[in-house]
Amino acid sequence: MINSEIIKSYALKNAIEHNGKAQQGSVIAGLFNHGLTKENIKDHIKEISKIIKQINHLPSEKQKELFKDLEKNIGKRKIREGLTPLKGTKKPVIMRFAPSPSGPLHIGHALTGTISYLYVEKYKGRFIIRIEDTNPEKIYPPAYKMIKEESLWIWGNKIKFIIQSERLPIYYKYVNKLLKLNKVYVCTCNPEEFKALIKKSKPCPCRNLKQSDQASRWNNMLDKKGYNQGEAVLRFKSNLKNKNPALRDFPLARINTSPHPIQKNKYRVWPLMTLSVTVDDIESKMTHIIRAKDHRDNTKKQKMIHKVLKKKYPVSYFQGKINLKDIKLSSTAMKEEIESKKYTGWDDPRLFTLASLKKQGITPKAIHKLAEQIGLNEVDKTLGKKELMELLNNFNKQT
Ligand SMILES: [Zn+2]
Repeated sequence: MINSEIIKSYALKNAIEHNGKAQQGSVIAGLFNHGLTKENIKDHIKEISKIIKQINHLPSEKQKELFKDLEKNIGKRKIREGLTPLKGTKKPVIMRFAPSPSGPLHIGHALTGTISYLYVEKYKGRFIIRIEDTNPEKIYPPAYKMIKEESLWIWGNKIKFIIQSERLPIYYKYVNKLLKLNKVYVCTCNPEEFKALIKKSKPCPCRNLKQSDQASRWNNMLDKKGYNQGEAVLRFKSNLKNKNPALRDFPLARINTSPHPIQKNKYRVWPLMTLSVTVDDIESKMTHIIRAKDHRDNTKKQKMIHKVLKKKYPVSYFQGKINLKDIKLSSTAMKEEIESKKYTGWDDPRLFTLASLKKQGITPKAIHKLAEQIGLNEVDKTLGKKELMELLNNFNKQT
């Protein structure tokens, strides 16, 4: 466990390696071998800072002398080895990372995606990068190429790419399956009225229409001369008494006539995430899913669809949020500031995009190491700008 002697040992070691000045990030990285975790850092950080300060005030001869007695503490403890094992890995694993093309990849994507990637490496499976572009209005066209290149850089060339907007016929095929099972309906109610009914666990008038009517209503959604945008939505028939109103008769597809950057005006009905993700996970034979824990409700919805289609749901894990304090990662905000010339481009050294980290000499391996250290964990983590760079630079030196 962490105690002042262990902290002192690492601070001295680091000070000796850095002209007498120990760096907090590197000392912390060493202490991860002794039970320090992202979660308990806050309990030790004061003591760590205090010890580093004291050590950094000592003349280097004194540091070396003190270290002689404490060297035995370094690396004596078992170093945490790799990632916690996954459940159900008899067959090769198939896992995915699913960015939306609203901007290039940044460190947040890289850390999340790398955890799945490392498991695929560990269990010799397949890693799929699925570009989720079924909302024609939320696409930054250059992002397709950027995501592809950056994924190849960070995860190598064994990955498989899937672009959802190329798969609309497959999603429609599943809608037909669900129509035949009488598990979906086309709702033409005013959203406010629908909401009021669903809140009271009451069906809307569309829900109980005949199956043949649902099929022709679905055709009217697909037909240019049929419903207009906003007039109809495809809904899943779930349990209206579900405790959580968000899980009652949730939507699966809607009309959006905005031209899509790749598909142009070829399609007018677009699947919502619940539908496209479910279909792709089934079609790709996904075995394990790791995703942010704010996707719990989505997971429940996807499980319901798997169940009616008699498909086994992949082994599912939730990952805590990686909060990157004082780091701007919103694509929209970054884009605006690049356009206004505040930043020189996506690879501006002040940004935490992969393009920028690559330019600064950070290697994929260093990012892998950091992701491995974060590991599969439901607890949220917070990393500041300085700490993040120190950790990455430190891993960079080790690789
Ligand atoms: Zn309705």
